[in-house]
Amino acid sequence: MGEPKEALEKFASAWDRAEVGPAAFFPSRGRVGLESLTADLGLRAESVSFLACGALRPALDRYFAGCRVHLTEGSWELGVCPYCGAPPGFGDLVETGQRRLACHVCGGGWVFPRLRCPFCGTQSSTDLARFEAEEREEGYFISACRQCKAYVKELDRRLRWNAGSALVEDWGSPHFDLVAVRDGYWRPIASLIHLARRA
Ligand SMILES: [Zn+2]
Ligand SMILES: [Zn+2]
Repeated sequence: MGEPKEALEKFASAWDRAEVGPAAFFPSRGRVGLESLTADLGLRAESVSFLACGALRPALDRYFAGCRVHLTEGSWELGVCPYCGAPPGFGDLVETGQRRLACHVCGGGWVFPRLRCPFCGTQSSTDLARFEAEEREEGYFISACRQCKAYVKELDRRLRWNAGSALVEDWGSPHFDLVAVRDGYWRPIASLIHLARRA
């Protein structure tokens, strides 16, 4: 994961002593995972969010399965997952033209306004930027925010009806992350590219 050996060893021994467990990776207000994972153990925030997705998703997906149907449209307006509280990992424009944000941590999804930043909530058109992919990758785009500098990759499924799941599409398009990072944007849920150690 590009972590220094020392941080991984600290984390492994804390895990073995049961000082940290799966609950340490739960999303909380404004972050994913406990602050101590970064502050005390030295794990990077990118690695913490990546571990959260890998470790928690199978269990949380099953845990929330029964209550997903109760989320009615318009009953949730925040930019974090209504089930687990994590920030979105990917966005889909579905057949109806609605924007559906996907949660990588628990596998949930929710409808969210297209012209609002899910991370800071701004609706100002001068803050919201959209970077489209080139012609042969039509349908893929990056929604970035000049206010909070966060971005989320999205896919217009009306143009790509046979695309994979949100997680597969996200991990399969690291070149878009490179573009966003190069332009100075960041994302709260790390993708594969963010795990590479920065030189
Ligand atoms: Zn979730
Ligand atoms: Zn924003």
